[in-house]
Amino acid sequence: MAMTTPRKIQPDQQAWFHYRAGELHVEGLCLTDIAREVPTPFYCYSAEAMRWAYSILSDALSPIGVSICFAVKANSNIAVLRLLSELGCGMDIVSGGELERALAAGAPSSRIIFSGVGKTRAEIAHALETGIHQINVESAAEIEVIAEVARSLGRRATIALRVNPDVDAKTHAKITTATKDSKFGIAIDDIPELYAKAAARPELDVQGLAVHIGSQVQDLSPFRHAFASMAGLVTALRAKGLEVPRLDLGGGIGIAFGDNPGPDIAEYASIVAETVGDLGCQLTVEPGRWLVGRAGLLVTELLYLKDGQDGYVAIVDAGMNDLMRPALYDAKHPVLPFHQAKGAAASPRYRIVGPICESSDDFGAYEGLGELKAGDLLAFDCAGAYGASMASTYNSRDLVAEVLVDGDHFRTIRRRQNIREVLELEDTGNWQNGPAPAKKAAG
Ligand SMILES: *Cc1c(COP(=O)(O)O)cnc(C)c1O
Repeated sequence: MAMTTPRKIQPDQQAWFHYRAGELHVEGLCLTDIAREVPTPFYCYSAEAMRWAYSILSDALSPIGVSICFAVKANSNIAVLRLLSELGCGMDIVSGGELERALAAGAPSSRIIFSGVGKTRAEIAHALETGIHQINVESAAEIEVIAEVARSLGRRATIALRVNPDVDAKTHAKITTATKDSKFGIAIDDIPELYAKAAARPELDVQGLAVHIGSQVQDLSPFRHAFASMAGLVTALRAKGLEVPRLDLGGGIGIAFGDNPGPDIAEYASIVAETVGDLGCQLTVEPGRWLVGRAGLLVTELLYLKDGQDGYVAIVDAGMNDLMRPALYDAKHPVLPFHQAKGAAASPRYRIVGPICESSDDFGAYEGLGELKAGDLLAFDCAGAYGASMASTYNSRDLVAEVLVDGDHFRTIRRRQNIREVLELEDTGNWQNGPAPAKKAAG
């Protein structure tokens, strides 16, 4: 397939998160003004940054016929899903809850793909009744269950088999998904037999293969290996007389983070074209992080400073329950002070920690932030993916709020959940010592 010369794309984040007169702005708004109206901690997203990320990817991939489905788990706020859906993006979901979100955001069911190792019968039934595009199947046992559910509903299930190609994505162990010991996918050697068996079943419409090797992938060569194995597998299946019209290449494209420039999207597109471009398959990718990761900040207030072993310990009001990635994946999110640091070179060293009673509630050590004091506002950068969607109420803290900026206005797209709403789910009666209070059936 003819390819244009790869063009080095330099993502210019400054366009959305930038200092104007020394004050941190998101698009046309000063963050200090937003923080006056929205109590910290909160996530703040740039709509333009998401549109930019989508256009970069779609400009690179649509000429080679690849469609894009957003991995909803990266950021599942309905306003974010709606924004991406309106740009033409499909949705990759991993639960019945995400299906509800995608539909609530107006995503057409014909553009929804259902991935995940542990789909329940109820989730499968819901997906079939909704008429989604495809279910990516991750085990032989799941094929059986999907066939049974489809038969009981009098429907045919459109499926693809998720392949474990045994490729190391060279990313953090906790976001590696395609090595032999991973729980994901079906071992590549087992695919031909299973594919033929599934294709013979009347309840199943086997459309192709899927692969997803991991997340925050920086070095693109594992993609080349994985996609080349997929091409070999498609050819082998076709040689056995099987039809393979669709190929889903998964997500995993890394983003620029701190000093890491992030992979080049034109090169990624070349790899897709060179490895699977000539198969005549309908191609799909499922990026999550790439589309939203750089588009979000987590805004927090510095509560207390104390002396630490090596510099100061800065205790902020955002914790690992709000942004779990440092605790879970050793991720280090750059920090942007609200007031641009002056004479940053000589500024003290701060270890920024959250309020949660866990030692892992620690965002790491930072320099160059200037002199900080209690009451200062800070923003963790590159927090648009796997931030709010992973947030919890651990330590009985309020579920974090989310704000979306578009041009010179903003909207709270998820308000903070208050503790009364959480407590309502719990039984406050003293049931051990008496009859339970009359209760409505669970919804
Ligand atoms: C998580 C996931 C993705 C998205 O991964 P990113 O690294 O956010 O691009 C895509 N496909 C599947 C099956 C996933 O589980």
